[in-house]
Amino acid sequence: MKKFKYFSMFVMSLLLALILVGCGSKPLSKQDVLQNAKDANTISWGVKADTKLMGLIDVKDGQEKGFEIDMARALTKKILGKNGKAKFVTVTSQSRIPLLKNGNIDAIMATMTITPERQKVIDFSNSYFDAGQSILVKDGSPVKRVQDLNNRTIIGVVGSNSVENVKKYAPKARVLQLQDYAQALVALKSGQGDALTTDNVILAGMAVENPGYRVQGKAFTTEPYGIGINKDQPEFKHALNKAIKEVEADGTYNRLIKKWFGNVPGFNYREVLR
Ligand code: GLU
Repeated sequence: MKKFKYFSMFVMSLLLALILVGCGSKPLSKQDVLQNAKDANTISWGVKADTKLMGLIDVKDGQEKGFEIDMARALTKKILGKNGKAKFVTVTSQSRIPLLKNGNIDAIMATMTITPERQKVIDFSNSYFDAGQSILVKDGSPVKRVQDLNNRTIIGVVGSNSVENVKKYAPKARVLQLQDYAQALVALKSGQGDALTTDNVILAGMAVENPGYRVQGKAFTTEPYGIGINKDQPEFKHALNKAIKEVEADGTYNRLIKKWFGNVPGFNYREVLR
């Protein structure tokens, strides 16, 4: 009986030791994201699932498709070597920063503008795409430019900076915020607002699929997209910036721009070549 008591005490202390070792694993802020990615031979990217041309999950085959998906794959190979794996996790404009901060993803590549507010909480790579905010309207709409939205309703998405920007350009507009771009488009099509606002490239992707809707007027902001990463990851940031330079230098970047935007009405791909 005594033997059993000692044995169970031994098992208990072993368990306790294991738990303590587990708790001792480094907090996220102390981890080296690049080293972890190398160890796993994988980078986890937060990407959009409802943004045609940039990040879309194709319902037909369940595959991720778009410029950002191809870029993430190309950057992964530059950083980890040709057998490196890119894992994709779906994010929305609202969920992307929390998912990064919780460690669910290593990097955000999801139409995210580098802004001073966001730089307070996360870090960014150099810009990898130059977008600009615009509006999508139905053909024949009296809304010709963003200022025409004063005293009208504009649709946007929670967590995007577009809904903040529009307050500057049309301060008297009512802003209806939806959870994601798929829902925002449904709201526009069902007449819940007079226009949908976000970046020109996202709107161009919607216009391709929805005859009768158009991107109206020129972009009224500049939206440089950056890869969002956690703070205090200098090696990872350096690796990403180096990889971006490499894909630009070896022609991959412009090839992908032409692949995704070469034939999109209302979007001049020449302006975003590098
Ligand atoms: N680029 C803007 C932003 O970062 C709008 C696109 C989006 O919602 O992802 O908020």
